[in-house]
Amino acid sequence: MVISKERYLGLVSDGLVPVAAGSPLLAQKGAIDALHALQEDAKKQGFMIEACSAFRSFETQGRIVTAKFLGARAILDINEKPIDPIPAAPVERLKAILLFSALPGASRHHFGSDFDIYAPNKLPEGQKLQLTYHEYEQGSYFYELGLYLQESLTSFGFARPYMPQASKSSQTSQAAHASSTSTNGISVGLEPWHISHVESARDYLKSYDCEVALEYLEHSDLVFAPYVRQVWTQERIEALLRPQCC
Ligand SMILES: [Zn+2]
Repeated sequence: MVISKERYLGLVSDGLVPVAAGSPLLAQKGAIDALHALQEDAKKQGFMIEACSAFRSFETQGRIVTAKFLGARAILDINEKPIDPIPAAPVERLKAILLFSALPGASRHHFGSDFDIYAPNKLPEGQKLQLTYHEYEQGSYFYELGLYLQESLTSFGFARPYMPQASKSSQTSQAAHASSTSTNGISVGLEPWHISHVESARDYLKSYDCEVALEYLEHSDLVFAPYVRQVWTQERIEALLRPQCC
């Protein structure tokens, strides 16, 4: 199925449905069914999995990057520490942001196939969810959840695009230090919480046109729009979208 640019750029949410009754989170029906099956299984293992993010629009992603670009929201380095001061040169600042945030128009969250998940019942009382790799390190509250996901995700049709792909490091990926996974030399921060329903993402990735996306973003009124062409390379888009993952 060919997916329109309006859909793969996250300009519209046509055809998406709430993740659960009354939830503001939207996703594709197939991805939600798979998520529910995963949740059922996880429950038996003691993990009450919840999604904290699903479909994200171009506009929302634009707001996130804008806040970081203007210094209103921290830009994290590879060790998940806020960069201070933030790079003065706009292009360098954008590159730093792209370690943990996608450009609007280049986020798998536009597809309605991807979720950010966590297990509220494993979060210590009073602890705010951070969505950092540190939460998944040995000794931390989501370590076991990470192991469970590593074991179980594929049987429910999910993959983790921002984790090292099955290779020599697959056994040690859980133990690895907060770091990055790199594609063609471009680093993207590890995100153990980000899961993608492979089948639901496939047509979006196939239909995705890099040039169309760049064109749209460049002509948007986002404050960083004048600089995107300088960071927009095939390699970087692949690092953000991970087409090879699914
Ligand atoms: Zn995510």
